[in-house]
Amino acid sequence: MSNGIVYLVGAGPGDPSLITLRGVECLKSADVVVYDYLANEQLLNHAPESAERIYAGKIGGRHNQCQDEINAVLVEKGKEGKIVVRLKGGDPFVFGRGGEECEALRTAGIPFEVVPGVTAAVGASAYAGIPLTHRDITASVAFVTGQEGKDKDESNIDWDRLSLGGGTVVFYMGVTTLRRNMQRMVDHGRSLQTPVALIRWATTPCQQILVGTLADIADRAEECGFKPPAVTIVGEVVALRDTLQWFDTRPLCGKKIIVTRAADQAGEFSVMLSARGATVLECPTIRLVEPESWQLLDLALRDLSGYDWLVLTSGNAVRYFFQRLATLGLDARALAACRICAVGPKTADEIRLFGIKPDLVPTDYKAEGVVEEFSRLDLHNSRVLYPRADKARDIIPRELQRLGAHVDSPVAYRNVFPERLPPETLFALEKRSVDCITFTSSSTVLNLAAMLGEELMLDMLKGVVVASIGPITSKSCRELGLKVDIEPAEHTLDALAAELEAHFSRSSLV
Ligand code: SAH
Repeated sequence: MSNGIVYLVGAGPGDPSLITLRGVECLKSADVVVYDYLANEQLLNHAPESAERIYAGKIGGRHNQCQDEINAVLVEKGKEGKIVVRLKGGDPFVFGRGGEECEALRTAGIPFEVVPGVTAAVGASAYAGIPLTHRDITASVAFVTGQEGKDKDESNIDWDRLSLGGGTVVFYMGVTTLRRNMQRMVDHGRSLQTPVALIRWATTPCQQILVGTLADIADRAEECGFKPPAVTIVGEVVALRDTLQWFDTRPLCGKKIIVTRAADQAGEFSVMLSARGATVLECPTIRLVEPESWQLLDLALRDLSGYDWLVLTSGNAVRYFFQRLATLGLDARALAACRICAVGPKTADEIRLFGIKPDLVPTDYKAEGVVEEFSRLDLHNSRVLYPRADKARDIIPRELQRLGAHVDSPVAYRNVFPERLPPETLFALEKRSVDCITFTSSSTVLNLAAMLGEELMLDMLKGVVVASIGPITSKSCRELGLKVDIEPAEHTLDALAAELEAHFSRSSLV
């Protein structure tokens, strides 16, 4: 009955965006994921929620027995007809024991595929700014295990060939054996002055780099207690880092920042901060859900030709409106006789996605702006449809009615609190490893307080830099007892990101 297959997928070196498209496709189809210590756990989010997740580190006890047991799990799940993803750090066939796993699968008659990944040496090279080859410096590179011959005097590595000439050498698994391997390279002819870089947790926000020479790198590593996992790059190319480093010089590098997200921000602020090197922990403070009843909205949707104006005040209103329209079997043609007002250019863009050009976009993007624009028109006896969020202010219906319109404002969606913080965010707060938290509207502050409880929130945010987008948000922070450290002069996400950058570059000078 078996239609099972095992995909050996290279997870890449750490940064979760360095997995291949094929790797993500495999994860999306997985029934079972067996993952390694070195594979970034965030990648598991690509797998269906229903997929079984097995941490390979927990299978078996001692190392060798452990590999046999991992092979056995892969075979067993494959035989059950499951789609199994074996998610391995870096590339499956570079010091990954992928070969052994494939052999076990072939013996058991289970089909498999191998999806390559960015191996640690390549990831580390890129993110440390150390090209492994360079036209003017070296034309060859070798990947070598640092563990070879650990338990025996004889080694299978040809140290003469490795050490002579100027080829770049990258050691994997070589932190504990660093002194011995550096000495071997010197004994076999490589100059003591050859530059060496140790790169730990390459491509991740925890990346650490220690640079020295064959003569002193082991002492330096010992002095600072340098720990695995790391690769060791030996060769003249290491000197290029002085001019080519980029990853660790980004302004927010190493900073862990919580972005409390309102419903209408599709992660754009997080992207701005990540691009500056920050580790962003997203924390949605609003969840959108359907109205308790569709009845009033449906009534209006079936009677769209009876309205003179449709007013849409957010991207969410646009999406919920058109989704419901489609559910009722209708489309944009139902709006043929109706003029459309979009509050602000973003909402207007969302409306254009549905093939409709808004008739009115007030220059002041708030409810007051809508009222002002409408006050120049004759609204007498006109009918206005305003599909809205459950907690929307009632200024639009009230004022338009005052101008003589009949306004229907059915609820198109509701804002509710998410029940809890994402586990990663909560964990970081508990561990006191957060540098900064950002608030981009009053509701982000108030909702976070509601989710955590005020006291716990204040306690968890002790010592955390608080950044607020503007005075109204800052006021909400202060009312809850939070001290605001950063508030940009212009109240936009761009300005807030720039202000964060300025704040942390100032504080790193002290
Ligand atoms: N298959 C993996 C290698 C597994 S062997 C690959 O292709 O990358 C484990 C070794 O890989 C570690 O001891 C370390 O030397 C290296 N390694 C893996 N991930 C690393 C990372 N993010 N930074 C530095 N070294 C890493």
